[in-house]
Amino acid sequence: MSDMKTIFGKIICGDIPADVVYEDDDVLAFKDVNPQAPIHILIIPKKEEIPTLNDAESRHKELLGHMLLTASRIAADKGIAESGYRLIMNCNAEGGQTVFHLHLHLLGGRQMTGF
Ligand code: AMP
Repeated sequence: MSDMKTIFGKIICGDIPADVVYEDDDVLAFKDVNPQAPIHILIIPKKEEIPTLNDAESRHKELLGHMLLTASRIAADKGIAESGYRLIMNCNAEGGQTVFHLHLHLLGGRQMTGF
């Protein structure tokens, strides 16, 4: 963990504070500092800094599934599972990615538009 360079890596190491909503051995979930919805949570891998989805390998299959299941559990905990929510994973510049530590956005608490 000590070689993590991004702002999310610093959150994992405890060098930068975050409003953590869930944590286990493999993932950390915390509130986005610039929320785009009443509920906006980021789910990130803890053990390894995977910059983008392009860098994920077949050995990360379980981790990627765990990130999705963590999102659905947090949505249930927050009471938005039935009303609905949106998951987003941005990849590289044209995808809108700004932090190069793989992360899943969980957005909810309002009607999502677009797409
Ligand atoms: P992306 O554009 O997909 O790379 O998303 C990065 C997200 O990280 C943005 O929604 C930012 O608001 C969020 N963010 C950046 N720094 C922090 C931080 N220190 N704590 C929580 N969220 C952050």
